[in-house]
Amino acid sequence: MSHYQSYKESLDHLQKTGGFRSIHNPVPEKMIQVSSNDYLGLQHDSELYEEFSEELSSAKYRFTAASSRLLTGNSKEYNALENYLKQIYGTESALVFNSGYHINAGVLPALTGKHDVIIADKYVHASIIDGLKLSSTDYIRYRHLDYEHLEKILQDKAHTYSSVFIVTESIFSMDGDCADLPKIVALKKKYNAFLYVDEAHALGVRGTNGLGLAEEQNCIADCDFIVGTFGKAIASVGAFVVCNTLFASHIINHTRTLIYTTALPPVNLAWTLFIMKKIPLFSDKRHHLQKLQKLFTDQTNLQADTHIIPYILGSNEHAIRYAKNLQNNGIYALPVRYPTVPRNTARIRFSLHAGLSETEIITITNILHSDEI
Ligand code: PMP
Repeated sequence: MSHYQSYKESLDHLQKTGGFRSIHNPVPEKMIQVSSNDYLGLQHDSELYEEFSEELSSAKYRFTAASSRLLTGNSKEYNALENYLKQIYGTESALVFNSGYHINAGVLPALTGKHDVIIADKYVHASIIDGLKLSSTDYIRYRHLDYEHLEKILQDKAHTYSSVFIVTESIFSMDGDCADLPKIVALKKKYNAFLYVDEAHALGVRGTNGLGLAEEQNCIADCDFIVGTFGKAIASVGAFVVCNTLFASHIINHTRTLIYTTALPPVNLAWTLFIMKKIPLFSDKRHHLQKLQKLFTDQTNLQADTHIIPYILGSNEHAIRYAKNLQNNGIYALPVRYPTVPRNTARIRFSLHAGLSETEIITITNILHSDEI
């Protein structure tokens, strides 16, 4: 069989099993959008754009970094953003990366060697899984949110390794449930492990100042690494990790996804800082989002700890059909399928955002109840 034939067959197989992916057309503006990660609804906030445009015209930020941060790509905008992150998280260091994917795929391999072990929740994001695979270390997965299982692994294995890293998301991207960070903190202290928390889906949305679930659960200082991404609630691009200076220096020296890539343009960094400074002030948006979540769950039988509400449908085909029907009814929802989620748990991932109104939530839930769906 020629190479081309095997590519074609594998794509045909994806088509037949409902796993075929394609890049969608831009979302029509008049549709109700429940599939993005723009949780605070900032993406279309024209007041924010206008305010930043004024800053933009006087500051004349550059639109490229033109090289890696370790060559000439560093800028004062990086320093300003990292200083701000250090200050709000109360940490010794903050490092901004090009994306959350770059952090998770790069930092875990940089931190760990063959005498260490990474113990991660079964449902962590693909970028963390790639980080595990790229590490030269052993890795073990504990059952999702099952901290007895995590402790059993720590009991059996921790003493046989030099360093132990526990890795979790705070709000899980596809299930919308929450880690119990204080419980993990207690275990990390008991077994002398490091804790790495990915706050991608909680940053901006949870905690009094919008710093994430570690802020809400009062344990920022107990997390050795907190990762946040700017491409979701922050309506920008890039990501950060906050940690102590020793780890930061190690990361700068060993992380290939930081060293060997062109840095972010100053204009994006300035926009990120502009938004990050406003995040503590957006508690009205956070409360509105909580209200929408409650309304959505009250109107349906769906359970949700957060603004991410999975509606599990089972087969890929069923989820595809369901999403199509929702789209035909003006709701921009997308199916999430294997391998992003376990087999036979394909779903619609309703990701609510503060830009929605209560009337729009009722429109969605009415459609969910109607016969057309
Ligand atoms: N971590 C989690 C939990 C995510 O869901 C994602 C993206 N969906 C990332 C990291 C990657 O972040 P980025 O989009 O900035 O690469």
